[in-house]
Amino acid sequence: MKAILGPLARSLGDVTFPPVCIVCADLVEASDYRHVCAKCAGKFDFVEAPACTVCGHPFYGELAGERLCPHCEGLAPAFREGRTCVLFKGPARALVHELKYRRGLYVLTDIEAAMRRSLRALELVRGAVLVPVPLHARKARERGYNQTLLIAQCFVRAVDGAAQIEQLLTRCVDTKSQTAFDRRSRRANLKNAFALSRAAAINPALHYVLVDDVFTTGSTLNSCAGVLRRAGCLNLDVVTFGHG
Ligand SMILES: [Zn+2]
Ligand SMILES: [Zn+2]
Repeated sequence: MKAILGPLARSLGDVTFPPVCIVCADLVEASDYRHVCAKCAGKFDFVEAPACTVCGHPFYGELAGERLCPHCEGLAPAFREGRTCVLFKGPARALVHELKYRRGLYVLTDIEAAMRRSLRALELVRGAVLVPVPLHARKARERGYNQTLLIAQCFVRAVDGAAQIEQLLTRCVDTKSQTAFDRRSRRANLKNAFALSRAAAINPALHYVLVDDVFTTGSTLNSCAGVLRRAGCLNLDVVTFGHG
């Protein structure tokens, strides 16, 4: 009886909630993703080497030897290396927007599926202590979750548990929405925005990796990196799901 009911329940589920592509709204069939159709999934832009060692943005063409890209101009990173899974456009942007602004926790499995194909980013994550960029407590209450923590959990699953998460940081200033600021005022706005959590203990022998959903100017990640560095994190990298 169970054997009959299982598939029946599943097909009923698909009738009630037909899997629809979050990018183009077509039905999702024969795709590696549950909420991105095969056609849109083809538009994931996975980052391969060579890439900027600070932010992970790929270099195109003949740029051997050059390490920095225009995205990190003037950043003076407090971390060693940054890597990213995909460029923040098309399906990657749709997934993060769904998670961040529409409470779409159901897209986490697709984010994890995309991460699993991002071997360069996973290389950095494996064996590391992941530190998610924190949300201010007010915002976390408002949203009900910290999407960066959820993304860090996706990274842990994508390396089959070979990484751990420690929430070492808190956001002590309720910074105004970053998108309203230009690059320079973003940095001023972020000064002293982060602090070490009260119970945080740093082990200088461990490899720490800061996690954020998207690398934009890098100023948020760099503020967090500065706090960790001053607290004794010597071996510190950065990983993001998207770059854009
Ligand atoms: Zn689609
Ligand atoms: Zn860069």
